[in-house]
Amino acid sequence: LCLLSGSLLAQTGNKGIPSSVKNVETKVDSVLNLMTLEEKVGQMIQYNGSWDLTGPASETGNKQKEERLKKGLVGSMLNVISIEATEKAQRLNMENSRIKIPLMFGYDVIHGYKTIFPVPLGETASWDLEAAQESARIAALESVAQGVNWTFSPMIDISRDARWGRIMEGSGEDTYLTSKIAVAKINGYQGDDLSDPNTIAATAKHFAGYGLAEGGRDYNAVNIGKHELHNVVLPPFKAAADAGVATFMNSFNTIDGIPATGSESLQREILKGKWDWQGFIVSDWASIAEMIPHGFARDKIHAAEIAVTAGSDMDMEGGAYEAGLEKLVKEGKIDEGLINEAVKRILRVKFKMGLFEDPYKYMNANLENEVPYDEHRNTARDIAKKSIVLLKNENHLLPIKSSVKKIAVIGPLADDKDTPIGNWRAQGETNSAVSVLEGLRNTDLASKITYAKGVTLGQGERSFLMPLEINKTDRSGISDAVAKAKDAELVIMVLGEDAFQSGEGRSQANIGLAGLQLELLKEVQKVNKNIVLVLMNGRPMEITWAAENIPAILEVWQLGTESGNAIADVLLGKYNPSGKLPVSFPRAVGQEPLYYNRMNTGRPANDLHVTYSHYTDITNGPLYPFGFGLSYTTFDYGDVNLSSEELSEGGSLTLSVPVTNSGDVKGKEVVQLYLHDLVASVARPIKELKGFEMVELAPGETKTIEFNISEEMLKFYSASEKWEAEPGEFELMVGGNSEELKTVKFKYSK
Ligand code: BGC
Repeated sequence: LCLLSGSLLAQTGNKGIPSSVKNVETKVDSVLNLMTLEEKVGQMIQYNGSWDLTGPASETGNKQKEERLKKGLVGSMLNVISIEATEKAQRLNMENSRIKIPLMFGYDVIHGYKTIFPVPLGETASWDLEAAQESARIAALESVAQGVNWTFSPMIDISRDARWGRIMEGSGEDTYLTSKIAVAKINGYQGDDLSDPNTIAATAKHFAGYGLAEGGRDYNAVNIGKHELHNVVLPPFKAAADAGVATFMNSFNTIDGIPATGSESLQREILKGKWDWQGFIVSDWASIAEMIPHGFARDKIHAAEIAVTAGSDMDMEGGAYEAGLEKLVKEGKIDEGLINEAVKRILRVKFKMGLFEDPYKYMNANLENEVPYDEHRNTARDIAKKSIVLLKNENHLLPIKSSVKKIAVIGPLADDKDTPIGNWRAQGETNSAVSVLEGLRNTDLASKITYAKGVTLGQGERSFLMPLEINKTDRSGISDAVAKAKDAELVIMVLGEDAFQSGEGRSQANIGLAGLQLELLKEVQKVNKNIVLVLMNGRPMEITWAAENIPAILEVWQLGTESGNAIADVLLGKYNPSGKLPVSFPRAVGQEPLYYNRMNTGRPANDLHVTYSHYTDITNGPLYPFGFGLSYTTFDYGDVNLSSEELSEGGSLTLSVPVTNSGDVKGKEVVQLYLHDLVASVARPIKELKGFEMVELAPGETKTIEFNISEEMLKFYSASEKWEAEPGEFELMVGGNSEELKTVKFKYSK
């Protein structure tokens, strides 16, 4: 073996494989044949590399990691940031190891690398797939300029619970919309060809169910049945697999008692079996070893045995594979075939990335100078504008009239340059965003603006996992804010959540305006009713008082680097808001989990208040429904026409609906299509999004939007555990949000 490997490597230098061997599978097999068991296991290990790899390895743990790198016993590293550090790690590996298999460098590039785009939940509110793809392409370009060649994104967990801190990191509550965004993101990161040095490998995460943690508490158990798993959770992952995503990440949670990381059914049977997906699965951070506290594995060796059997290919920083895999094979407890299968998957991705041809291809220090950062900022502003959702606009308070003479900008987030960067900010710098105040001061309104912070929101240290301390006592700034509000014609209040109120480990039992913000809002409202509430947040919030008492509300999420400029564009009417909510906003946190595509109950529909499961102390339903968003113009939907009332097997129908801009400015509308399967072998949701179309209309203009209705649209995971369409009656609903819809019916027969 050594002889063979020696001669092979001698022939090819760093490349490790003769270029005459063209086919990826042949290449993978020939490399695998050269590897010792120890080297194979090494490929299945991912180390955290946030220590300073450019200097001497000082700490013992790091020294050990360096030694393993030199022996070629590491497959990938995460959190190694900078060309110098990635290059050093790659050299340690390539120049010292026997086997010379290039490393992959993974990083959480979630919504941009240096140029920060809206948090994923916000960007999804644009319903703009080109935008989602473009921000991913840009993130890839900026990442490779720093040596990063693999992102742990997109997160495509369906989340229906605003309490869950990571709801900001996904695409919200809908399976169809999330699937579409997933594919756009993957195409943006990976391009057409992973070996193109401007692309990076993407990760579909977290497989699976992570977003449905009980009570919205991060890491908590997920208890869903097989139909919800297949119909709600899995489709975005299937779409990602079909789109050729290079890697999957499994998840921390148990699902029906089984840790996802140890789930053979999810990983081996569904993903690698039924879906025939060829990439590799990386564990979530130490999620293999976490099967010990889950009470599913006795120790790391047992955890390694469970995970590798289930199909987890790479161990992220958990030490279980390092501790267990070789031993397990040597003792005959697992077959080496399992290791071979995992290593083949990892090698396959590395070949597809072109790493064997040039392990240093991402490590070109000159690249940084070629990155068009200015252009990226323009795109970030454009996407940020599209992500803003107008929730309320009584008496056309917005856009701001040029006749307004004095504007008070108030609130703890008004001049916050950090919160818009959001959580999971990669290399987006602290305090690097354009604040709302700055954005407004960049416009013609500059001379009309006064500013008061009013209250402070988060205080003390702000860091990745530490809970944020909220100010609940310091009222010293309120009187100044009230005075400025009294003196102004219009007040723009910027309230919401600090960047570190959402994100991993940041679930909250309360989702209202934290600290003294509501008090400030009420005090200001006593002296001036002309308030525009600019809501900056990473999750749906409980804003019922504001919705009842404040005339205009603009949901701006955390919009990234160009936040303030984009918000000013919308406030001034330079951009007519077109975003629509990808999540339902509750009236009270006690309604969570809250989502539009619910099941019916068995109660008759004769009393609106009790048609479905409800609370007696609150109006039923959301404050703002999924798909909702206003514009500075209005759109009228005409009669919905269906080409036939009968759909037969293999056939298709055309649904058409005229949409008219009935206001007096140009605007964009997201026309949404929902489906309801009236009777099926498994009870189906009252409606499910099945299509959407963005249309831009001049004042008075009408366009007819068409949707193709095919059998494919009717398919679901049925009682016979098949993805199939069942004959029967269906309703199609069309409109501008999930509640105001026009309905037509048809019959499907086989
Ligand atoms: C998160 C993942 C992330 C990983 C690496 C984990 O805690 O759940 O989403 O990719 O850390 O940073």
